[in-house]
Amino acid sequence: MCLFCQIIKKEIPAKIVDEDENLISFADINPKAPVHLLIVPKKHIESLNQIKEDDLKLLGKLILKAKELAEKFKIAGSGYKLIFNCGKDGGQVIPHLHLHLLGGKKLE
Ligand code: AMP
Ligand code: ZN
Repeated sequence: MCLFCQIIKKEIPAKIVDEDENLISFADINPKAPVHLLIVPKKHIESLNQIKEDDLKLLGKLILKAKELAEKFKIAGSGYKLIFNCGKDGGQVIPHLHLHLLGGKKLE
């Protein structure tokens, strides 16, 4: 089972900041910004390469959750970046789709 599926099943601890039926969000263990959260669908989708039309609603929820967490973590006004890494050249390390929410400083 992949690392994020283990976090979803609470087999590995994480600093969970939000959880609902479809998504779990937790602090990145190696933060690249003062706010660095990972928003993760509970459904195991390996990467953007595997998304299907049926997943569009879930992807919309992912972005809406990022917006809500940006508000909760007080970076909505100052701004933030949302990043999906895909595959080797995209720098994806964990083979379970996730959205990075980064903010709290000026990002390159
Ligand atoms: P990516 O490179 O897009 O696959 O991003 C994977 C992210 O997961 C990296 O930013 C890691 O720092 C983060 N990460 C790896 N292991 C953990 C963990 N156990 N808990 C929280 N974040 C993690
Ligand atoms: Zn998984």
